[in-house]
Amino acid sequence: MSEAILDQGIDYNVTHNLANVYAWTIDFSMLQKNDKFKVIYKEKYINDTVYAGAEPIEAAYFEHNGRPIYAFAYENDSLKSLVDYFDDEANNLRRTFLRMPVEFGRLSSRYNLKRKIRYYGYKVRPHKGTDYAAAIGIPILATADGTVTESTRRGGNGKYVKIRHNETYSTQYLHMKKQNVKKGQFVRQGDVIGWVGMTGNTGGPHVCYRFWKNGRQVDPLKEELPQAEPLAEPLRPDYYAYIDPIKEQLDCIVYPEKIEEDDLLTLNELDGTK
Ligand SMILES: [Zn+2]
Repeated sequence: MSEAILDQGIDYNVTHNLANVYAWTIDFSMLQKNDKFKVIYKEKYINDTVYAGAEPIEAAYFEHNGRPIYAFAYENDSLKSLVDYFDDEANNLRRTFLRMPVEFGRLSSRYNLKRKIRYYGYKVRPHKGTDYAAAIGIPILATADGTVTESTRRGGNGKYVKIRHNETYSTQYLHMKKQNVKKGQFVRQGDVIGWVGMTGNTGGPHVCYRFWKNGRQVDPLKEELPQAEPLAEPLRPDYYAYIDPIKEQLDCIVYPEKIEEDDLLTLNELDGTK
């Protein structure tokens, strides 16, 4: 779906940043026609004339499936100057898991225990993974922090990586072209652990994402993924005071009249020399 956003003439970096802000709350492989967003960011110019890229997103509003989700950048921990994105009720938009292991994959096959395949004479061949089709060489990301327990090649799995996140959850990523991590290595959420390929048993390039919970494979799209900590109570009065005028600014942005049903809008706040 990145193309749909890029079609609007938005800087690739803004698209990328927007995808990051909402990576935990919106599955970009399932964008709907009526989804729309507004985003506030600054553009950098050298000597007021030469465009030098976009700054990180300050605030955004994304309406997905009719559900509005606000996002405001806010320093969560002043000591480490950690910036997180929070909604209008101070909930952290981050989850402990990314929604999917590739930035813009297309959901091509869901977890389905009753899947029947013509090739196998319509016998039931359960599919315990969630497939995201993407071009060969697209980076595969760790969906959460953890330790690599397997990085190997085996049978139908092809080249794959498995990561243990805690005593409850592990995730696994199959059919890689090549792995980028070794067994025993600690990875952070969003780290590139390999690249999309078609090793093992697969008809086309995709990553088969397997989500393990207590030793059993479950459907990650049906799991209520654990949420990161909301903003600490003592920080909230300041936070609400900070977001109030920005929220009003977002709300005041109107979508253009000639908008097509799937059109999207951005607002750039021009910034001076940086
Ligand atoms: Zn699969």
